Amino acid sequence: MSIKGFRGEILSLSHDPAEAPEAVRYEADGLLVVEAGRVVARGAFDVVCPRFPGLAVEQLDGLIVPGLIDAHVHYPQLGRIASHGAQLLDWLERHIFPAEKAFADPAHAAGVAEEFLDELLRHGTTSALVFATVHAASVEAFFAAAEARELRMICGKVLMDLGPDGLRDTVEEARAESAALIAKWHGRGRLGYAVTPRYALTSSDEQLAAAGELLAAHPGVLLHTHLAENHAEIAEVAARFTEAVDYLDAYDRFGLVTERAVFAHGVHLPDRSCARLAETGAGIAVCPSSNFFLGSGMFDFGQAERHGVRLGLGSDIGAGTSLSLLHNGGLAYQAGLPGGYVLDPFRALWLATGGSARLLHIESEVGMLAEGQEADFVVLDDAATPLMARRTAGASLAERLFALQVLGDDRAVRRTYVLGRCAWDRDGGRK
Ligand SMILES: [Zn+2]
Repeated sequence: MSIKGFRGEILSLSHDPAEAPEAVRYEADGLLVVEAGRVVARGAFDVVCPRFPGLAVEQLDGLIVPGLIDAHVHYPQLGRIASHGAQLLDWLERHIFPAEKAFADPAHAAGVAEEFLDELLRHGTTSALVFATVHAASVEAFFAAAEARELRMICGKVLMDLGPDGLRDTVEEARAESAALIAKWHGRGRLGYAVTPRYALTSSDEQLAAAGELLAAHPGVLLHTHLAENHAEIAEVAARFTEAVDYLDAYDRFGLVTERAVFAHGVHLPDRSCARLAETGAGIAVCPSSNFFLGSGMFDFGQAERHGVRLGLGSDIGAGTSLSLLHNGGLAYQAGLPGGYVLDPFRALWLATGGSARLLHIESEVGMLAEGQEADFVVLDDAATPLMARRTAGASLAERLFALQVLGDDRAVRRTYVLGRCAWDRDGGRK
């Protein structure tokens, strides 16, 4: 396998800056050496280059950061982004459930999976934790498309035996289809599986228990679901699960709150839930553009930090309004301010890289652009528009990063690399 160097300005976070102030790793003139898809060396160009005589070096114009990691997104909802006029429960009925029914057709699922992965790469996202639909074929289509592109992706069949007509499975189908998909896809290449009950209200007690059994029987797989997003949803959960002390407890009773659990949203959580999340090592995928779009509320970063809850960043397409985790980082900042929390731009980048990686248990492989990790990275252009160029000229690194988060989106992604290979070029399209 060939060895290659990439020279440029390199930035990553090796820890959560809220926990470790020395978390920022930055080289103004850096060199990233990639061999067989992995980073074998990284550091100042003048220091690292002499260690590799004859190394072929490509100069990259822009800010090199780790490939972004979307901790919560629904690929079947790609075409329903920007659907007007409803909060969560109505929005699901009016816009989302009808769209998801089409994924019973494998050809439809395969087509949307390809479009979705193109969009992820265009936005600089190289890994994601992804909802499919209730149909096993939708998971097969997604994994096949991700495998062909050698992407590190995690997905799962949605469990919803209390779902609407055409989107309902049974407890037995949930168990058997999930087990078969895990056996076929989990740990194959860069792919991983997540047991995926849609949310508490769309599964029976028996199905939630089956999800817990699947999780216990397959120690490597994740649990992926929604939690405490919307007030009406929370009220319905409380009405059904009368024994549970709060929403999280409704999951906990079925063995679903573990260090491998990823809960999307967590917008309205009592302190007890946050303490329990921290105690178990479970975490939250924060999805600010979705929370704004559906009028769900704003994530309480201060509360999560007080309790030490693990966090990552998600786009939650199609309720989210942008696949860009830069843009979602800017919105996360805006979500924090009313509660008095000032999200640092470096921490916002951490949430979209190492934070999400840690949440998804893939931090040994991706998220920090560290030696030994897989070489997934993005080249950002902080002068992608005239206004961005004006704002970032002569600015500090923190100011440039913040401008990328507030003003940036897919236009600011010049190139996306997967395993050291250019998979997306803004000027040339898909590679
Ligand atoms: Zn979601």
